Amino acid sequence: MHPTSVSIIGLGPMGRAMAAVYLDAGHEVTVWNRSPGKDTDLVARGARRAATAAEAVAASALTVLSLIDVDAMYTALDGADLSGRTLVNLSSDVPDKAREAALWVAERGAAYLTGGVNVPPSGIGQEGSTAFVSGPEEVYAAHRETLDLLVETDYRGADPGHAQLYYQLNMIMFWTSMTGFHQAVAVAQAHGLTAADVLPHAAYTTDSMRGFLGFYAPRIDAGEHGGDVDRLAMCAASVEHILHTAADAGVDTGILAAHADLFRRGLAAGLGEDSSSRLVGLLREPAVAGVSG
Ligand code: NDP
Repeated sequence: MHPTSVSIIGLGPMGRAMAAVYLDAGHEVTVWNRSPGKDTDLVARGARRAATAAEAVAASALTVLSLIDVDAMYTALDGADLSGRTLVNLSSDVPDKAREAALWVAERGAAYLTGGVNVPPSGIGQEGSTAFVSGPEEVYAAHRETLDLLVETDYRGADPGHAQLYYQLNMIMFWTSMTGFHQAVAVAQAHGLTAADVLPHAAYTTDSMRGFLGFYAPRIDAGEHGGDVDRLAMCAASVEHILHTAADAGVDTGILAAHADLFRRGLAAGLGEDSSSRLVGLLREPAVAGVSG
């Protein structure tokens, strides 16, 4: 076995970017993907095509998985001999699934790290790109250098669920922000504007968020929710304005209506003179809990 051999399981845009970085770095790379055809460029550049995921794991001491979720790992590696191998699963999933997966892998005699990548495929191999990783410290120490070729790893401790927790916190920020952008563009389009028209103003607002977060985080942690800067009543009125601007434009208002409901709950709870940061407490006493659909 080549000392720096790496296998990549899952060749979506992310797995392909990872395999390409290892090829560039001179590693011996084995790849496997469920559907054929996604490895063509990589094989042309010297990657070895495994016939099965089990064969990919057998080919290298270290296997990186980049799949849609954790369940895909069970499907791909059902019946595979994992003993003595190290798997690093950089597929997104919820913390409890990551913990279950760590037990599943341990029962099969392999070491396991879990992680979440904070950049798009274009960021793989680029300076400043990061990923959360967690799992046994000695396993991380043994493979850190190889993993850091892909992204700078941010070790989040032994709990295999922790990397996914930090990753999903980032994703809550990311997806709600992107949905905000999509909503703004939908309203803009209804008025004959384009995404390009929205872009500079959306970017300005997004950039300013760092200041808002930096202001509110320590106050929230200190339990300070005074309405000295923002009153929830003012924020609720503003949220009604965005809801009605969207409704007047004839676009979908489902997300903004849910948003407005939250602020109305704040008013109904008598929090109108406090900061909108009081909503954190309301979100911890959910009116809507669980997952539907
Ligand atoms: P894709 O959805 O494009 O690719 C998913 C991969 O999972 C494909 O190789 C697919 O195989 C495979 N797969 C899905 N189901 C199964 C299954 N049941 N058995 C075996 N293989 C399966 O994802 P990306 O490459 O974009 O992302 C990979 C991971 O990285 C995801 O967890 C994603 O959340 C995360 N990520 C992605 C980012 C991005 O911008 N793309 C950014 C940060 C993280 P097939 O080709 O056969 O469908």
